[in-house]
Parts: sequence; C-alpha cells; structure tokens
Amino acid sequence: MALAFDEFGRPFIILREQEKKTRLRGLDAQKANIAAGKAVARILRTSLGPKGMDKMLQSPDGDVTITNDGATILEQMDVDNQIAKLMVELSRSQDYEIGYGTTGVVVMAGALLEQAEKLLERGIHPIRVAEGYEMASRIAFDHLERISQKFEFSGDNIEPLVQTCMTTLSSKIVNRCKRALAEIAVKAVLAVADLERKDVNLDLIKVEGKVGGKLEDTELIYGIVVDKDMSYPQMPKRIEDAKIAILTCPFEPLKPKTKHKVDIDTVEKFQTLREQEQKYFDEMVQKCKDVGATLVICQWGFDDEANHLLMHRNLPAVRWVGGVELELIAIATGGRIVPRFQELSSEKLGKAGLVREKSFGTTKDRMLYIEKCANSRAVTIFIRGGNKMMIEETKRSLHDALCVARNLIRNNSIVYGGGSAEISCSIAVETAADRHPGVEQYAIRSFADVLDAVPLALAENSGLPPIDTLTAVKAQQVKESNPHCGIDCNDVGTNDMKEQNAFETLIGKQQQILLATQVVKMILKIDDVISPSDY
Ligand code: ADP
Repeated sequence: MALAFDEFGRPFIILREQEKKTRLRGLDAQKANIAAGKAVARILRTSLGPKGMDKMLQSPDGDVTITNDGATILEQMDVDNQIAKLMVELSRSQDYEIGYGTTGVVVMAGALLEQAEKLLERGIHPIRVAEGYEMASRIAFDHLERISQKFEFSGDNIEPLVQTCMTTLSSKIVNRCKRALAEIAVKAVLAVADLERKDVNLDLIKVEGKVGGKLEDTELIYGIVVDKDMSYPQMPKRIEDAKIAILTCPFEPLKPKTKHKVDIDTVEKFQTLREQEQKYFDEMVQKCKDVGATLVICQWGFDDEANHLLMHRNLPAVRWVGGVELELIAIATGGRIVPRFQELSSEKLGKAGLVREKSFGTTKDRMLYIEKCANSRAVTIFIRGGNKMMIEETKRSLHDALCVARNLIRNNSIVYGGGSAEISCSIAVETAADRHPGVEQYAIRSFADVLDAVPLALAENSGLPPIDTLTAVKAQQVKESNPHCGIDCNDVGTNDMKEQNAFETLIGKQQQILLATQVVKMILKIDDVISPSDY
C-alpha cells in the first residue's frame, strides 16, 4: 500500500494486487482466533501425563525428533498462524520461567479458549469473559497456596527431592531409568546450589551426551567433560595435578591479521622468516613451561607444525574448545581465562587433580575429563544412549528434572500432581462463583470446568473413562475433604497422590494458571484481524 498525490496535490492510495488484505472483525475474529488456539492445544493434549503419547517431528533437513516435551513439540512444529504462535510463545514462557509444565499450560489455555467460545455464543461480551477469567485465576492462585505443603529436605536427606524429580521424569520416554536420572539431577543441583541463599545457577551444570552405551551408563562427573581430545595422539592421556593455561588468544606463530605484503625473494630470507616464526612459538611454549603450566587449553586451533613442536617440548594441549566450555573450565579449576598471551602468569593457571582422556566404543571417540577440580562447583552430566534422538530427549527430560530440583530449593512449597490440585481448585472456584452476582460468574464457572481439563486429559491418556473417573475423584475430594485425590494414571491402586509421591512445585502450577489466563485474555481482546489475502 502506498500513498501518492495527483497533479492537484490530492492524496490517493495505490493498492497493489498482491497486497489485498483480508479482514475479520468482531465475533468472527474471536472465533477464528479461538479455533487456531484450540487446534494447537489439541495436538499437545494427548502428550500430557505419565501415559502421554510422544510426537515425532522431522525438520526440513531430515533430522528426526521424538519427544513429549510441550515446548519442544511446539518449537519444532513451525506454525504459521499468529495465534498459534502465541501458544508457542506461551509454552516457551513457561519453559523460561519454570522449566517444566509446558504441555499442561497449553492444554489449560486450549480449554480456556473452548469455554470462552461457548460464553461468546451465549452473547457474553469478551471483556466480561476476560474479567471473569482474571477473577477466577486469582481465586485458583490463592487456593493453590492454601493447599500447598512445605517440603522438607536437606543436603543429607535428598530422597524427597529425588522423588519429586521422579514424578517429572515418569511422563517422559526415559522413565525406565527415572530413579538413576533423578538422583543424578538432584546431586548435580546440590553440587552447584547455595542452600543458604536458596540460589542455584544451572549454568554451572553442563549436560553432554555421546551416542553409544546404555542410558544406565549416564553419569555425573564432578568436573567438566569436553568433547575434545589431545591435539596430538601421542600426548599423555592422563595428567595428574594438572596446572592448566586457559587461552582465548592464538597459540601459534604470529600471523599478521590485516592485509600485508612480505617480499621474500631469496631462500635465505625464507629461512630466516621460518626460523623467526619457530623461535617465536618456541618462546611461547617456554613461557607456558616457565609459569608452570602442564596443559594448555586453547579456544583457537594451531597448525600441524606447532602441534608437532608441542609434542616435542612435552606440553600437552587441547585445541578448538568452545567459549562456554572454557568459561566452565575456568570456574571449575579456579583459573583465569587469558585473552593476551603476554598476560599469562602462574596465578592464572587452573588446577585439576586429574585430567584424562577417555575413549569410547570401537570408533575410539575420545573425550576429555577434567576432574578433582580446585572448585568443584561446576559439574557435568554425561549422557549415554543408543542413538542421537534418545540422547536429545534425555537432555530435555533432565532439563525438566534439574528445573524441578532448582525450583524446590528456591521455594519448597509443593502441591500434589495427577490433576489433584486442579480438581481442588475447580471446586474452590465453583463455590466462589456463587458469591459473584455479575455476568462474570458465568466466566468464573467456566474456569472451574477449564481446571477439570487437566485431570480429564490425564484420565483419557491413561485409557480411563474420563468423565466417570473425574466425577468419582471429585466426589471423593469433597466427601473426604482431601485435596490430594487425583487420577491414578499408572494404576497403582490408590488415587491419593500423596501416597503415590506425585508432587509438583507450587510456583510451577501457579505460573501455569497465570500464563494461560493471560494469553487467553489477550486473544479474547482481539476483535480485528488484518492479514494478507493469501493467508
Ligand atoms: P508437562 O510438559 O506439562 O510437564 P507432562 O507430560 O510432564 O507435562 O505431564 C505432567 C502431568 O502429569 C502433571 O499434571 C502431573 O501431575 C502428571 N503426573 C506426573 N506423574 C504422575 C503420576 N505418577 N500419576 C499421575 N499423574 C502424574
């Protein structure tokens, strides 16, 4: 679209053929948006819970991902519709803030949209619906706080934390190893946690994976594992009491960086140049030795000649180590990253009790283990598995488990899982609806139905009759005034989630309700959609 003026200075608009817009207004706009949001939620609904299905996604370049992590499914679905993108964003926000509950939040938003559609059809104004939802979400938020319990654990008694991580892992593909993985996750988080300040820096936990072996071989290393090997095959494979120079500057003969011209017209000149280059590098190696370094880890590469010289001078080196890894190595070994070679000094060296190279399988893939570090706060979880897909999914599942443990250290309130918290909130919201005389009470009542969507989906995905199961559990909660009754997805024989040890963190659940309500309110307030006509 362009604005132009005719010869009399009168403005007119030029509309090009391709730029024709379609426009949806009022109720039509809301209905179209709701349909798009619901479509996304429907895809994720079957992935919820311990018996949830997995999705297989293929990227344009043929990579296959199998997962049931909501955020990953949506991320890779490559949706085109703007409202569907909002749902993707919703799942991502939950992932950023909390780290898990990414499927649940979308299922909840989908149910909110479904109920909103019914209310709009009954002639209730979208703003009243949005306001009703807001009130109801606050009621549910406060109710969660009331039914939450404090969760006691300490550095010596990690079992409760392990149990909670196991709940998270039980809905993932890796659930056959959930106990081992949960223990690894908890130990990793405790290794980097500051329990006094209730702070956990997950950046200090490096998650590395290598195809091969079994999932059971996954291990926690109190140190750093780098997917690199010594730069020369005959360098030592094991260095004890290593003093490590961590370089982000080139470690090779000096090379002019900008445009330059060197005239070499005689053999002598060439030889002099070569000798000088070698001498320069030799001095660098000597400097490393003088300050006491027994290992050089460098961000840059060095050529074969330099490599050979290092071998001769007996100075093991590792090249092409990524920036993030260098930082972790520096933190773990208490060393300082050296950006200018001249600044290398003995107090900047990192210290590690043991640096060893480990090879795997018949392909002799090698990795470098830096262990017994001066500062053991940085750790690595090293995942093994049959194929790349499995390793990637284990990484995602472990991320969820790490986030659960971190959130519990930050705030140790929990609510029970299996939809029990949602059912309890649903009852509370339903009761509260009666106290609101305005039109909003319809929206509040709908919100109670929305909260039932999670237990309904859990029951459906576990092959139970959804409505029968939900009504039975709800009746039991009311009768026994017990907010811990949920859906017995794994057919354990009891639906008391406290007995099943199925916890979720309070902040995670509260965040789900808040985020889903916010997004749905935003969608309801859109009454005009202008988009290109070919859309
Ligand atoms: P999300 O990506 O939202 O975390 P999940 O697929 O991990 O979704 O499923 C989480 C849901 O499964 C939660 O509502 C949780 O309460 C429920 N859940 C997990 N473990 C169990 C269990 N053992 N029994 C019943 N429900 C469970």
